[in-house]
Amino acid sequence: MSSSSSSSSSRLSNRRSVRGVPTRCWCGRNLVTYAAQTKDNPFRRFYRCELALQRKTEEHLFKWIDEALLDETKMVEEKLEEEVKELRKEMVKLLDLQSSLTRKMEKEVKEKVEEKVKEKLEEKLKEESMIATETKKKMAGEMAREMAKTCMQKLGITVLVVGTIGWLCGNVIMS
Ligand SMILES: [Zn+2]
Repeated sequence: MSSSSSSSSSRLSNRRSVRGVPTRCWCGRNLVTYAAQTKDNPFRRFYRCELALQRKTEEHLFKWIDEALLDETKMVEEKLEEEVKELRKEMVKLLDLQSSLTRKMEKEVKEKVEEKVKEKLEEKLKEESMIATETKKKMAGEMAREMAKTCMQKLGITVLVVGTIGWLCGNVIMS
């Protein structure tokens, strides 16, 4: 009961919402184009099925051809607009993807470069520390030699001094 009323009302809204150039009447018949013979719309062409002319009390599709064509043009424009919007969205997505890929690549390259630089630096530092150790060793050796020399000199002086003192003392004792 209520379902039949709702289905009929939905059918009615379907009838009203026919947009663009209709292909078939609601009754399922093919549409024919006729020219109006009224005073208000002389020769204005419209779509109608053949049955509608025979059964004038029944509801059948009626649509002015110029309105249908105007609808069609609008629909094409809307579709184009929609497609342009979709394309823009796709473009934005692609650009986002591209920039994220670029960022990722940049990050990877940066990381690799940093790693390489770090490696090189570590190598260099190791080399330098080895050189430094060598230098230190050399320096230590030289310093040790120098110190030994100084020590020997000092020792020599001491020996000389002690000897001189002894010699002097001997002289004093002997005299
Ligand atoms: Zn019809």
